[in-house]
Amino acid sequence: MKENFISGIHSYCDRWCERCRFVDRCAVGSDEKIATTELQMALADSPEEEMKYALQHVADRFVEIGKMLQQMIKDQGLDYDEIIEEAKDYEPPKPTQVQKHLEKRAMKYIKILDAFFEKHKTYFVPEKVVQQLLLLPGDPDENAEQIKNALDTIRWFQFFIAVKINRAWNSKQDDLFDDEDPIQNDFNGSAKVALIGIRESMDSWEVLRNAFTELDDPILDVLAFLDGIKKGMEGEFPDAWKFVRPGFDEGM
Ligand code: SF4
Repeated sequence: MKENFISGIHSYCDRWCERCRFVDRCAVGSDEKIATTELQMALADSPEEEMKYALQHVADRFVEIGKMLQQMIKDQGLDYDEIIEEAKDYEPPKPTQVQKHLEKRAMKYIKILDAFFEKHKTYFVPEKVVQQLLLLPGDPDENAEQIKNALDTIRWFQFFIAVKINRAWNSKQDDLFDDEDPIQNDFNGSAKVALIGIRESMDSWEVLRNAFTELDDPILDVLAFLDGIKKGMEGEFPDAWKFVRPGFDEGM
């Protein structure tokens, strides 16, 4: 680890390295491969292709993390193969009804989002966006930037929210975390980043709502759906917002 890296910062971030102010202090983000991935994503012909490059990057990171873990286990004098064998017998606890419900909703949000943009795609073609920009008060360039950011943010968190909710539940159920700090633990950290993803998404939907007034009703439906997930998570993880994320929440 380089000296100025912040330990564990990448565990509770939104993985949007391109926009991250800590990219030079993060072992994952400072990786020069990120530049290649970003370039590939920028040149992608479709959102699907862009997502493919992003997922490939994540998969590559997992391989590297796996190697680091092996080394850490070895350094601790433990037997890696024995740990793997024991892990095979491990039976994860059964999900609760609440857990299933929230996870289902987070997965449904992925589909709702796709369905929304498919149904209303005519609003998001360049000509229509330009038309809409001219109707809005304020500077058209700034408005255009805001809309682009909102769309990018909504897409970025589309899958992220479900992934982080899943991780928060798994951590909460896992006995391994029983003796962890009641606030600074993995499930609160994961729940917090899921909540941040929801909050950012909701803010972005509000931007679209202001810009595309004709879409007020369907956007309100999406917002209500996301708000339901948010409230559910806050109820199940009441200390999540108190979790201090390395780097991002320190010194605040
Ligand atoms: S902390 Fe920043 S640079 Fe590191 S993985 Fe997360 S978003 Fe990327």
